[in-house]
Amino acid sequence: MPLEEFTTHEVFNQTPPLVDINFAALDQPLLGALDAFGVKGDATHLVEQGAMLGTAAHLELARLANENPPKLKIFDARGLRQDLIEFHPAYHELMRRSIEAGLASSTFENLPADRVLANGKLHGKGHVARSALHYLVSGIEAGHLCPVTMTHAGSAALASAATHLKALMPLIASRVYDASFRPFWEKQGITLGMGMTEKQGGSDVRANTTRARQIAGDEYEITGHKWFLSAPMCDAFLVLAQAVGGLTCFLMPRFRPDGALNGLHLQRLKDKLGNRSNASSEVEFVKAFAWRIGPEGRGVQTIIEMVQLTRLDCISSSAGLMRMGLALAINHARHRSAFQRKLAQQPAMRMTLADLAISAEAAIAVALRLAQAFDRSEKEPVQAAYARLITPAIKFAICKSAPGFLYEAMECLGGNGYVEESPLPRLYREAPVNAIWEGSGNIMALDVLRAASRDREATRAVLAELARQTHDLPEADRLVERIKALIAQDEGQGSARALTLDLAALASAAALAQCAPHALTEAFARTRFHRAHELFGANELDEECEQLLERALPAS
Ligand SMILES: Cc1cc2nc3c(=O)[nH]c(=O)nc-3n(C[C@H](O)[C@H](O)[C@H](O)COP(=O)(O)OP(=O)(O)OC[C@H]3O[C@@H](n4cnc5c(N)ncnc54)[C@H](O)[C@@H]3O)c2cc1C
Repeated sequence: MPLEEFTTHEVFNQTPPLVDINFAALDQPLLGALDAFGVKGDATHLVEQGAMLGTAAHLELARLANENPPKLKIFDARGLRQDLIEFHPAYHELMRRSIEAGLASSTFENLPADRVLANGKLHGKGHVARSALHYLVSGIEAGHLCPVTMTHAGSAALASAATHLKALMPLIASRVYDASFRPFWEKQGITLGMGMTEKQGGSDVRANTTRARQIAGDEYEITGHKWFLSAPMCDAFLVLAQAVGGLTCFLMPRFRPDGALNGLHLQRLKDKLGNRSNASSEVEFVKAFAWRIGPEGRGVQTIIEMVQLTRLDCISSSAGLMRMGLALAINHARHRSAFQRKLAQQPAMRMTLADLAISAEAAIAVALRLAQAFDRSEKEPVQAAYARLITPAIKFAICKSAPGFLYEAMECLGGNGYVEESPLPRLYREAPVNAIWEGSGNIMALDVLRAASRDREATRAVLAELARQTHDLPEADRLVERIKALIAQDEGQGSARALTLDLAALASAAALAQCAPHALTEAFARTRFHRAHELFGANELDEECEQLLERALPAS
């Protein structure tokens, strides 16, 4: 049947759009991982959300929010500063839905205050369910999740200042998206941002030159700049600045306690490769008011509590982008014919899709396994050690592989994948940022090296668990020995990436072993333990192809 009668030709052999489907219910790898690592009942909320997220109307919000990026309104008509960001209504709607769904707060809601503040750390609950939802939402629109993620993670840094945590938590946990530009204490719900990166250095935050002068008690005045300050419309920011005692973390509200606009002078918005629905600004702090969070000189240690959580979100976001790229590619290949067969039946295409499906399934499996470690780390030291060591390894491996993955998924759609009417260009442009922010690739690899060598006993315990979970996989014992040798050799930073990739492969296989069919886990081990995996589709996966594609996206 032709799709439409043109006077010059018939339209046929074009793929129906992937809309009005439940992205959670059709995602076996996601549901399997949730079942293995989450708690009973997690899937109910997720499947409800999956139905809403897959509607044509919701997908249209994602397109609109990116095709109508935010605008900076520094001055009003009279030349007075207002430092406002104007967003398209679609962006506000995406924010409202994500915040109401609990993405900015769910892990910290309903916790008794004494547990919240145990050891000055905020131990949340339900990270697995939240990460699963974060993955789903990211696949559809990731840009708006920047402030959502920072709000969620910011609570962990606030745990170093009980008074501020207590004041802000009800406004975070309210699940109300209140976009009004007013002091946070007058609002129903708030969002938080983060300012660390300066012109002279982002990875090396100790080189920050922004200065903090104490006014009284925990009140300070901050002067300097930030070269990247995403989501500048947030109600308050966790900011690093140099105080007398060294680099310190501060909470900087948009409005001063007397209700006047605080001295955050937005300079311009970044013109970015992707992440276009999100506003990322350059800002000057002109005697900006802020409260100290944690002791002077402990800025990195305080804000790292936040960064550890944002890294978890970089992982689930990358996994979500990959999964959406895969679903679009499989959908296309099942409908499009070339050379008398559906693409999905062409052996080279089947191999490519199956290879992509292995990486996508491993990504969500290990993302949720990591989230489980966050849930358990308060009471189980091995889980805390796992979270510490494996988070940077997986952030490195998955966030770095996502752009290449999405490029391959895009090519599965041929030219239709390259044009802006398809979601793939947006997914592709979005992917690299997860590898850059919250600690770029080498910084993650060096962090793995640091964690592995700092606490050898904890590292041994984590490796022992991973070895146990992968013992029946081909070459797993060799991989474990290689990792041990890389740690023991202590060859310095030059081996950081090799160690990180090996550790990520082992941890991913171990996660798959707990939630995926054995044949799939074995295929992962066979094709990913050698560190030479550069292009998709060049692996021998014949027998597994059908199962992999059916798990990734059921044919009917
Ligand atoms: C869209 C976007 C939004 C952002 N939003 C925010 C925000 O809201 N708040 C914020 O604080 N920051 C934000 N950032 C900044 C981001 O966190 C930094 O860009 C990142 O941390 C890297 O810092 P840098 O750009 O200064 O690069 P550099 O620190 O100069 O690093 C450059 C490269 O060198 C590598 N490198 C650094 N040190 C070493 C080493 N010792 N050995 C080997 N390699 C090394 C890094 O891995 C990186 O690849 C944002 C960035 C982007 C792209």
